[in-house]
Amino acid sequence: MPRRKKTSSDDQAAEVMITSPDQPSPPKDAGSIDASEFEFLSVGLLQGREAKFQAIFTHEVINEIHAHGKTSMDAEICGVLVGNLYRDSHGPYLRIHASIRGDSAESHNAQVTFKAETWQHIQETMERDHARARIVGWYHTHPGFGIFLSGMDLFIQDNFFNLPWQIAMVYDPQAEEDGVFIWRNEKSERETRLTEPPAHVAEPQENALAAISMPDAADGITSRTWVLAGILFVASFGLTYALITAVRAVG
Ligand SMILES: [Zn+2]
Repeated sequence: MPRRKKTSSDDQAAEVMITSPDQPSPPKDAGSIDASEFEFLSVGLLQGREAKFQAIFTHEVINEIHAHGKTSMDAEICGVLVGNLYRDSHGPYLRIHASIRGDSAESHNAQVTFKAETWQHIQETMERDHARARIVGWYHTHPGFGIFLSGMDLFIQDNFFNLPWQIAMVYDPQAEEDGVFIWRNEKSERETRLTEPPAHVAEPQENALAAISMPDAADGITSRTWVLAGILFVASFGLTYALITAVRAVG
C-alpha cells in the first residue's frame, strides 16, 4: 500500500529534515556566525575583546574547571561548558557561566571519552539547572603534557561539538595553564581566553603584586585569591618575606 502523500508544506519540510541525508551542516567556522539572531549584551570594558567571535568565561567557571582539574593530577578528567551566545558592538561572542563535571567519564591512560552515562548526567543537569542555556563546548585536562588537541580530541570536537560556536578548553593542572580552541575555517585554532573581571575589584597593591606573579591570570580573580597568589609568589624568596606580605595583605 503506497504511503499517503502529506499535504501541509510544514509537514513536508519536517519530513525532508528528518529523511534527507544531504542536510548541509553549518560550516565549522566561528566567522560564519550570524550575530543578528543573538541578544545584544555589552561586555563593558573587557581587556582583549576584539572585533570577532570570542569566548568569554566568568572567573567563577574558570576557578571551577581548575578545581576539577586538580582533583586528578595524573589521569585526565573532562566536562562540558555551559553558556549562551550574545552580541555586542564587536560582534558575536560566547559567555560561559557554568560547567558540568563529567564525573562518570572513564579515563583510558591519556585520553578521555564521554560515556553514555556521562551524557545522561549532563542532559539531566542541563534540564534541571541550565534550562535557558546551551552546551557550548567541552573541557578536559592534560596533566603534565601541555595544551593542544590530540587526534582523539579532534575526533570528539568534530563529532560532538561541531557547531560553529562550540569550543574546546584544555587545562594542564600540573603546569597550571589552559587554552581555548575555536572553530576557524574548519580547524580548531587556539585563541586567547577572555575572562570577566570579578564583581569585587581588587585593591591596587594586590593588583600590582599579582601582576608580577601571575601575568597570564591578571584578568579576573577575587581579592582573596590575589592575596594567596601573592603569598605563594613571595614564598619562593623566603619565609620571612612571605609572612610580612601576608600580614600586610590581610591587615
Ligand atoms: Zn586531550
